[in-house]
Amino acid sequence: MRAWHVDAPGPVTGHPLRLSTDDAIPEPRPGELLLKVLACGVCRTDLHVTEGDLPPHRPGVTPGHEVVGEVAALGEGTEGTGANPLGFTVGDRAGAAWLRWTDQQCRFCLRGAENLCPHSLYTGWDADGGYAEYMTVPAAYAHRLPAGYTDLELAPLLCAGIIGYHALQRAELPAGGRLGLYGFGGSAHLAAQVALAQGATVHVLTRGEQAQQLARELGAASVGGAADMPPEPLDSAILFAPVGDLVLPALAALDRGGTLAIAGIYLSDIPPLNYEKHLFQERQLRSTTSNTRADAREFLAFAGEHKLAVTVHPYPLDVADQALRDLKAGRFDGAAVLTP
Ligand SMILES: [Zn+2]
Ligand SMILES: [Zn+2]
Repeated sequence: MRAWHVDAPGPVTGHPLRLSTDDAIPEPRPGELLLKVLACGVCRTDLHVTEGDLPPHRPGVTPGHEVVGEVAALGEGTEGTGANPLGFTVGDRAGAAWLRWTDQQCRFCLRGAENLCPHSLYTGWDADGGYAEYMTVPAAYAHRLPAGYTDLELAPLLCAGIIGYHALQRAELPAGGRLGLYGFGGSAHLAAQVALAQGATVHVLTRGEQAQQLARELGAASVGGAADMPPEPLDSAILFAPVGDLVLPALAALDRGGTLAIAGIYLSDIPPLNYEKHLFQERQLRSTTSNTRADAREFLAFAGEHKLAVTVHPYPLDVADQALRDLKAGRFDGAAVLTP
């Protein structure tokens, strides 16, 4: 099968990725599903793994963790409900997301915060992901997918959508609140629609003409430049752009008691904060770490009830490196998706 590998992490303008055309189709291990990949979203985290901001945990790893697939084979022990609680069988459509495995034994897992499990494993970082024709996923971590979407549209829901949803929870947006979104790519454009469906007023602060246009079309109350002040104070804000400098204007835009959640797994350094200007009056700054399976299922159920407009840019699997270069350069709005 064809599969991309991160051979030499470095700038995507070089050649950190290699396309192999003769990889063996992986064998599902006990408790795993073999997925035939139908679509795989291109996430900024893939860019961080490819460029070495997140050093690959597995040498030559295949990136990709927004995977829509068809179950092609079952590993041992997937007939029982323990390892396969959703009862996947061959031919089912299934989704694989970033969170691949947790120990279910640590204090975090035991209190329902498996996203904080120190032993967690991730798709496309610890194990090969979906920039390939086939991949495996533990059945217990695979997701059922909502109806009403194409495979291409479903892919970005599996990371961009889930993470945006979790970041929205972390931002503690009050009912009917005022939300600021800093950066407006694959994740933000989905979180915006969730917030709007919940009755929020959404202000979008982002560079890029296309992203600004998309924000207007989706119903943003205002659209400004990345570091602009929104027209009213914010109850909550989410920083999607991996730019630490933006923490300052985002905190300064918060109303008393407001919360800023940083959505990304990677952020450049945050400049010094001024207590009076950025934190006093009980403003809060929070990070977001992965998501639990419960977050993912709640979001996918929400997406089944509210049709989200997913802006997709298809790329053939063979040009995954170009998709990453275009992502880095901000050449498209919405989300790039690979198809084998
Ligand atoms: Zn754990
Ligand atoms: Zn992702």
